[in-house]
Amino acid sequence: MNIDIKRVAIVGGSSAGLLSAVTLKHFFPQLQVLLIYSRKHAAIGVGESTTAWFPQFLHEHLNIPQEEFYKSIWPVWKLGIKFEWGVPNIAHFNYTFDRQFRYDSQSLSKTPGFYCMHDMRQASRYSILMDRQHSPLLHDGQGNIKILADGFGYHIDVYEFIKYLAMKASSLGVDIQEMEVIDAKLDEQGNVQYLCCEDDLKIEADLFIDCSGFKSQLLRGVLKEEFISFSHRLFCDSAIVGNWKRQSPIFPFTTATTMNSGWRWRIDLRERVSFGYVYSSSFCTQDEAIQEYLSLTPEATDDLRKISFKSGRYRRFWVNNVVAIGNASGFVEPLESTGQHMIVETIWRVVLALQDSNLRPTPKLINATNQYVADLWDEICDFLTLHFKFNRKLDTPFWKYCQEKTDLGSVQNLVELYQDSGVCRAIAHLIPKSSIFEIDGYLTILCGQQVPVKHLKPLTERESSEWLQYRQTLHKNLEGSLNPQEAFHLLEKIW
Ligand SMILES: Cc1cc2nc3c(=O)[nH]c(=O)nc-3n(C[C@H](O)[C@H](O)[C@H](O)COP(=O)(O)OP(=O)(O)OC[C@H]3O[C@@H](n4cnc5c(N)ncnc54)[C@H](O)[C@@H]3O)c2cc1C
Repeated sequence: MNIDIKRVAIVGGSSAGLLSAVTLKHFFPQLQVLLIYSRKHAAIGVGESTTAWFPQFLHEHLNIPQEEFYKSIWPVWKLGIKFEWGVPNIAHFNYTFDRQFRYDSQSLSKTPGFYCMHDMRQASRYSILMDRQHSPLLHDGQGNIKILADGFGYHIDVYEFIKYLAMKASSLGVDIQEMEVIDAKLDEQGNVQYLCCEDDLKIEADLFIDCSGFKSQLLRGVLKEEFISFSHRLFCDSAIVGNWKRQSPIFPFTTATTMNSGWRWRIDLRERVSFGYVYSSSFCTQDEAIQEYLSLTPEATDDLRKISFKSGRYRRFWVNNVVAIGNASGFVEPLESTGQHMIVETIWRVVLALQDSNLRPTPKLINATNQYVADLWDEICDFLTLHFKFNRKLDTPFWKYCQEKTDLGSVQNLVELYQDSGVCRAIAHLIPKSSIFEIDGYLTILCGQQVPVKHLKPLTERESSEWLQYRQTLHKNLEGSLNPQEAFHLLEKIW
């Protein structure tokens, strides 16, 4: 780009579009930001479970006060993912966001990871809270509260979130207009000159942000950027999505359950629960998927939706003066809930590039930013292959195929090291520097699924007893924890 950016046009009024608008206006109030969306293309409406980086971004980078956010949409704390996954004789394991492998303790002779190879139950505070179905809010009974901010994510009602962001964007001066974008006119260098909208309207800007969802109206449609598919490594391509009016306690975690031809999520929001069966259409028909879904979720409301998706990313998310964010730039199947994560991560990388170049990014800077974001997408794909390769919960054709055919790609070496030496610090050298999941994520999935380790000796009596003691101490430190319902009521009283 060889001009100063002064005007930005964003196509799309869902999570990606509105988060981009709010973020740009927050960091560059001088920018003129126009956001266009069309009711003809509804927001996809899934994207309700996040990683821990998402709340951190909202509250620490965008300075959105927790109190304001909670009162507006009451997110449910997500302490991690409860995986009903792995070996048949263990009901579940917890993937927590509080870095359970890095806890420090004088009372242990080895790192917690060593013991986790044998027994990963309740290995951290969040893991204990997950089993209790309790939130990270501790109350001493005297009105004093403490929130254990060890890295929780959120469950959010995405429509409420969109409403909140639209209000926020307007208050920051973003101009939001309803209008359909039909096409775009390119100049000789391949930059978008203007958007061609309904009623022959032309929208000019210096930077265009494509947040049009899977349509990828500008990046794919106009610029014809190449799509790099992950479908040869991750085999799910469809989902049945529905809701359930709450009839049980709120779970402060996402649940991922193994199904015949894929897996099912459970995401608890305050008033409802969202269930989705993610499956491979090569292994079951839509009707079969619906039947299996309903057999486990008979209470689901009758608004079931079918969604098809392709896992993959565009080669570059930033091409000339077009930046694509959200599903318009890539999507990897939702097992680790990385959609909102990638939205905030991508827009954050754009902010950094714009800050570093005083709003005049050079092609080299754009290339480096593209590389960074591409690496993140590729890591998500690599990481997810571990979940499919080693899940032995069910012996169906889909899961047999996953065990045999899943290509581990860049994590092959890491798995070989783990199979050879178990939990060891050298694993950190094989994880990308900008890893989303970090060493705890990899070790959780390997230990949780009980990937066999050569020459693993059983714990000695002394080791078993110190591990037990360690976890009992963690329990003691969690006195006064509240379930999410109690925690919400308390916060409502205080705020
Ligand atoms: C099955 C499934 C489950 C998922 N689960 C999760 C999850 O648990 N957690 C998570 O983080 N992510 C999840 N995702 C990803 C999730 O979809 C994204 O995080 C996010 O919700 C997508 O937002 P978006 O803004 O990119 O796209 P969309 O919500 O599709 O929004 C597109 C916007 O573009 C506008 N638009 C499109 N075309 C035009 C046009 N021509 N003119 C004007 N406006 C236009 C539309 O009006 C809309 O406002 C999931 C995805 C799938 C498929």
